[in-house]
Order: sequence, then C-alpha cells, then structure tokens
Amino acid sequence: MSTPVDSLDLSGMRLASGEGRRLTVALRIEPIELAGETYVVEPQPISARLDISRTTGDGYALRLRFDAALVGPCMRCLAPAHADFDVDSTEVSQPGEAPELDSPYILNGLLDLAAWGRDALVLTLPPAILCRTDCAGLCIVCGADLNEAGPDHGHESVPDPRWAKLSEIRFDG
Ligand SMILES: [Zn+2]
Ligand SMILES: [Zn+2]
Repeated sequence: MSTPVDSLDLSGMRLASGEGRRLTVALRIEPIELAGETYVVEPQPISARLDISRTTGDGYALRLRFDAALVGPCMRCLAPAHADFDVDSTEVSQPGEAPELDSPYILNGLLDLAAWGRDALVLTLPPAILCRTDCAGLCIVCGADLNEAGPDHGHESVPDPRWAKLSEIRFDG
C-alpha cells in the first residue's frame, strides 16, 4: 500500500465534468477519545476506497468507504474491547451554490482526507464500545466484574446510616 495521505489534491487530477476516478488510499486516523478513554483505530494505515466524481463547475461528489476497528477498554467493565465498523460516507462540494453544498473537507480543490475519515468513523460508532454486546459490567457496590462473578453476585442491603442513628435512640419507659 502507498504511504498514508492526509490530504488529496482534487483539482490536480484535472477531471472534466462528469468524469470520475476510483482510488485506493492509505488513511491514518489518530486515536479517538470517548468517555475519557482512548481508543486506537486499527489497522494503521487503513486501506480506504475513494470514489471521486467531478460535477459541474468546481464541484465534486465523493464517497469514502473503509473497514476499521476501535480497540480500547469496554465502557462497562474496562476489559479489552474490539469493535468493527463499516464506514460509508458521502460528501458533495458545489462551491457558490447553497451553503449546505459546501463540504467542510474540501477547500480550493484540496480534500482533507484525514479529517473526513476521522469524522466519518466517529459518526458510525455505536453509543457504547463493549467487550461483548451483553457485557454485565461491574458491581456498583464492590466493583467486581459481573461477567465473572455471575448473576448470583449480590450484597446484603446496607442499612441507610440515617436509620442506624434512629435505632440508637432508646425510649425509657
Ligand atoms: Zn465488558
Ligand atoms: Zn459486588
């Protein structure tokens, strides 16, 4: 695979309107911070498929596809977790038209591939990264791993300290 590219010169390809090109690009995505933990993106670099179509004027329609995995602690039990993702993202850039047709990743014919790849990956992520979909998490009382401790793990209910105080009161009769 070629060396990772962070940006791509679209105008340098000199595509005519209606012309397209498909490229395989090496993409590098920096580790991602989620819920205070760091998740590494694998593999590095990622082999991504990039479809480029030149539309009218200085416009482009782009599609980026790649498979990646996020590796880091399970958000429930902190055991190593590995989550796979299929990323499929499209961008349209039609400068001078409506503002929503201005891609934030394309400026003066230069595509910010690293930023797009990273954002596209983050948008694909599920709400939680887990070691397995049914991870039981940690016991909120003692911190034991409930995947290992099993469903019978429990504690005697701890008396509320306010009630403990009340039980000290004696009534002299
Ligand atoms: Zn877990
Ligand atoms: Zn416990």
